[in-house]
Amino acid sequence: MRPAWAEISLDRLIQNYRLLSAAAGESGLIAVVKANAYGHGTLACAHALANAGAAWLGVTNAEEAIAVRATCPGARILVMSGLWEHEAEGAIEHRLTPVVWEPAHLEWLDAATREKQCATQSVAVHLEIDTGMARQGVRLADLPSFLERMQAAKALSLEGVMTHFHSPELLDGEATAAQMARLDAAMEIISARGFRPTVIHAGNSATVLANDGARSIGELAAKYGASAMLRPGLSLYGYPPRVSGEGASTEANELQPVLAWKTRVVSLRTIEAGESAGYNATFRAGRPSRLALLPVGYADGMNRLLSNRGEVLVRGQRAPIVGRISMDLTIVDVTDIPAVEMGDEVVLIGKQGTEQISAYDFADLAGTIPYEVLCNISARVRRVTL
Ligand code: PLP
Repeated sequence: MRPAWAEISLDRLIQNYRLLSAAAGESGLIAVVKANAYGHGTLACAHALANAGAAWLGVTNAEEAIAVRATCPGARILVMSGLWEHEAEGAIEHRLTPVVWEPAHLEWLDAATREKQCATQSVAVHLEIDTGMARQGVRLADLPSFLERMQAAKALSLEGVMTHFHSPELLDGEATAAQMARLDAAMEIISARGFRPTVIHAGNSATVLANDGARSIGELAAKYGASAMLRPGLSLYGYPPRVSGEGASTEANELQPVLAWKTRVVSLRTIEAGESAGYNATFRAGRPSRLALLPVGYADGMNRLLSNRGEVLVRGQRAPIVGRISMDLTIVDVTDIPAVEMGDEVVLIGKQGTEQISAYDFADLAGTIPYEVLCNISARVRRVTL
């Protein structure tokens, strides 16, 4: 079997979940396990979180949700990015909780409920409000007419109201406050039409870890007799958001990365000074150099921008990536690391000895964010749960 794998520590995941629950105080959490649990493996993570007490799990679409349902029979599963007509029946059958914002969502769900002849049992939906992200959600101006359609869709019940913040990491910024004010205005309209949602949720990792993030959502929910929830994703996997401004809570420092990405040296060679390595000869050795070959490339998620820039850990030391990262292979320079052998374990993301490479280090070099680094670790990298 190809020696390239990602170790997933479910203990750390649960530990992070508990820290975030503590940071959220009275507010509940929707543990976000979408996109293969940010590359960590949805089913194992969802199962571990549900067993650790996570009542709610957040996924992208019906397909992810139905897979989670099989391993988490008792969990509430929020389908955060809408659904299509052909998924409506499955959503009902598998007791999913869809986020709705398009009138079509209401029609499809209402029709599917009646089709399944379970009109006596209403389907709980969560309504997303577009408070400034301009991505998903009903805009305030369209809310009254949307609510009319909601009233007509007799098989549906409005259990939750939610929004998503565009700049939650700016802890003392005004953007989130403005979005909260729009959510409040939306709730005024919703209550005036006689709807009584029992839960209001907003915010991501940064909101959980901001000292007053959970509090302000809690206050808004209490104003309308609802309970509050927040939806952390990245922080569950051990990476606190980089927040700016006052007020990050202490739990942020205690989070532990859940994933370690590893491989092994599969070949070694020595090249002369002046010889090149890799496609287009972008690396030329300035001295006799010992090169180690790793069986991972950009098809595994090794971002090509790390060519001639990134590092890996071998025998507890940093080895520079040399030459262009290829589809399946990466070359590293181990000239300064004594006694490297075929089969030596190599860490791409994670800890070895006292050295550590985080998804943030990797992301900074690739000009991206840890979310993308983790999600891009491809399916052919085996996930091994610890
Ligand atoms: N809620 C929604 C609607 C999201 O789209 C996301 C992530 O993209 C999250 C919550 C979790 O965000 P984070 O991973 O920053 O905690």
